[in-house]
Amino acid sequence: MYGVIGHENIIRYLEKAIESNSLAQSLMFTGLEGVGKKELAVGLARRLLCKSPDAPCGVCNTCRKIYDATDKKESARFKHPDVLFVTLQEESDDSGASKTARSEIVIDQIRDIQNKVATAPFEGDVRVFIIDHADHMTVGASNALLKLLEEPPSYVYIILLAENTKNILETIISRCQVIDLLPVPLETIRKYLMEKEGCDEERASLIAHLSNGAPVIAERYLNDETLWEERAANIQSVIESFSLTRAGRFDYASRYSGSGADKRLKVVGMLETWLACWRDILLINVGLVNNVINQDYSGELQKISGKLDAEAIRKYLFGIEDAIKKIRGNANIQLVMEVLMLEMPGLL
Ligand SMILES: [Zn+2]
Repeated sequence: MYGVIGHENIIRYLEKAIESNSLAQSLMFTGLEGVGKKELAVGLARRLLCKSPDAPCGVCNTCRKIYDATDKKESARFKHPDVLFVTLQEESDDSGASKTARSEIVIDQIRDIQNKVATAPFEGDVRVFIIDHADHMTVGASNALLKLLEEPPSYVYIILLAENTKNILETIISRCQVIDLLPVPLETIRKYLMEKEGCDEERASLIAHLSNGAPVIAERYLNDETLWEERAANIQSVIESFSLTRAGRFDYASRYSGSGADKRLKVVGMLETWLACWRDILLINVGLVNNVINQDYSGELQKISGKLDAEAIRKYLFGIEDAIKKIRGNANIQLVMEVLMLEMPGLL
């Protein structure tokens, strides 16, 4: 049991490689956030270290030390001395009080791996190093990693995780076997939610749609009520702003002042929901109601769709995409929102 939802073909491939002793020592798993890259890396680390005949068993002492999901802190979940997980983890200051998340993998983190690579495994036969967000390495970290990948000792496996290979040195990519994790079919996620998580059909179908093929996102929806609240508020903002007058919309945009990184992330998150809603409005408009993601709001979205033609909706979708890009950049949030509000079709 790799503990991964979907990706059966990749697991079969890894199994074959392990059985024939040809597993690459440097691997790179690419794919969207939540598609299951870390889960697959954990499964593979367990497969390489677990001593059960049906490895990875997921329940033995070794498997639980490799990844202990019961620990609340993500960084504390990796307890096995032969498995190291490096990520943009939160750093606590001396008092342990204030924490800041890094935005890059830095050279010290790679040096830490370098030091550990030099010593033989403590408990198992191999050592596994997992580097999360490998597409966010500093130049120094990239160069240090490159050296590491040149000639790792035979007991070392290095697994890089990245959304895609875009920001990774060509020389690093060429030293890794790149395995791309495609979005998991919604039907697979829906079935999993019904059979393993006890969801009823309607909820399973909605969560599968919202996950967009990323099982980890589906699990978040399963366990995190605040995600639903946020989503409800964001969809409500689509419905509310649509019914406003020109002046009302202008006024609405002024809610989105400020410029901090947190604020940007929040507005981008909201606009991503807008994008999903307006895509749904387009789908309804062209008669593809069954493909709608936000099925539980299809009534309200239908009302908006009924007042518009497909061309206007399509044009607005580009407008939202453009706004997301601008806010991710350093554009003034309020100005971008004002334009977006006035571009929204259906003004009376
Ligand atoms: Zn085990």
